[in-house]
Amino acid sequence: MGSGQVTSSVPSGPSDFQGKHVTVAGLGVSGVPAAKALHARGAIVTVVNDGDDARAREQAAELEALGVTVRLGDGETLPEGTELIVTAPGWKPDKPLFLAAEKAGVPVWGDVELAWRLRGPDAAPWLAVTGTNGKTTTVQMLASILKAAGLRTAAVGNIGVSLLDAVLGEERYDVLAVELSSYQLHWAPSPRAHSAVVLNLAPDHLDWHGSMEAYARDKGRVYEGNKVACVYNVADKATEDLVREADVEEGCRAVGFTLGTPGPSQLGVVDGILVDRAFVENRHANAQELAEVRDVDPPAPHNIANALAAAALARAFGVPASAVRDGLRAFRPDAHRISHVADIDGVAYVDDSKATNTHAAEASLASYEPIVWIAGGLAKGATFDELVAKSAKRLRGAVLIGADRALIRDALARHAPEVPVVDLERTDTGAMLQAVTEARRLARPGDTVLLAPACASMDMFTNYNQRGDAFAAAVRELGA
Ligand code: ADP
Repeated sequence: MGSGQVTSSVPSGPSDFQGKHVTVAGLGVSGVPAAKALHARGAIVTVVNDGDDARAREQAAELEALGVTVRLGDGETLPEGTELIVTAPGWKPDKPLFLAAEKAGVPVWGDVELAWRLRGPDAAPWLAVTGTNGKTTTVQMLASILKAAGLRTAAVGNIGVSLLDAVLGEERYDVLAVELSSYQLHWAPSPRAHSAVVLNLAPDHLDWHGSMEAYARDKGRVYEGNKVACVYNVADKATEDLVREADVEEGCRAVGFTLGTPGPSQLGVVDGILVDRAFVENRHANAQELAEVRDVDPPAPHNIANALAAAALARAFGVPASAVRDGLRAFRPDAHRISHVADIDGVAYVDDSKATNTHAAEASLASYEPIVWIAGGLAKGATFDELVAKSAKRLRGAVLIGADRALIRDALARHAPEVPVVDLERTDTGAMLQAVTEARRLARPGDTVLLAPACASMDMFTNYNQRGDAFAAAVRELGA
């Protein structure tokens, strides 16, 4: 820290939008509020969108009624006269639209950059959370802790509530718990958080970012300009390296979290107790008890890590230890994150449909034994050798679904040749019922049938929610 370099060029762009030609790239969760906010500030807004379906037309009609121009079915051509692009975070940087913008010297902002630029002078500070896995869980834990401390707050960002809505809305906040995806960080060079955490770093979305280095660099932006604490994962050196490279405010501290006994300036676990040795007086001699491991739901190791990260950010903000305990006790995880669906004939059925990459699936597979593993879908450029090699001894069997299942099948053949594998070719709506039926056939009493696909779902389902719902429905059908 301190000697780091800023790796991105900061887009300038207008601070006064009156009469400026702004192109909003992509309708949807972030595009519609962005277009409205810019239009309300006097910008001449054109929205461009790749798709032209019924939903897009509905949104377009709403914006056109306000006087916004909307171009459906072409998200590639740069509209003439564009002075700034505000993009939906998921749009890939190598799209022709952005290449044309770069050539023309037009800056590109994401929704987070826009929210940062439009926030008022008394805006609430941000406690920011990123990482490959555990973001949503951690920001929700953090918001729960902040609320327990009596603070006005909300979990916002890459999670239901758009940051722009939170920043521009009527509601007054003392502090925001902000989830930031790697895409959002890519398009947001300016935001400066009060404190931030990179929970972990493992290959994901590499097809989007281009390389692991580029992905890590985008994640690392969350630490830029931090004021009080850069929180990192002691078990994941890459996160600590990012802290070291960040340019932060004078006096900002590096604070680690660990599942082991914490050293000074760390939070960790001692005899089933979450303890703080960072935000206490005389941290070389003292530690503060925060909560018990059993206060965390579920008390799986990766989730204790999430709780420690949330606690570190809350403590950086000055929250008392009792609020950490109360906030963690009040927290309940979202659906499809290691949720127990049913027990049938002594076999547990667990839905971790949100395990959409190998790193998440690894955490999930480490939480049970023996396992009949349901996996597969869209690999997003991932490889499965490490995951399978690490988890092989826990596997009773595997049922593979989806477009890239051959990659997992080959990894199983290499590292777990004795594990029986059922390879399901079908991708229709009945496929999940067949997968669960096959899993039941392989399972013995005491086993866990675990949906932890290690892949994205969009080859067979609308999203991971629908995939998890299909699993739960299939389990219930079996149990009926
Ligand atoms: P995100 O918002 O980053 O996708 P979630 O909290 O929604 O994170 O969890 C996503 C998946 O990652 C879940 O399936 C969960 O099992 C797994 N997971 C959660 N926290 C961690 C962690 N700290 N390390 C590894 N995997 C995790």
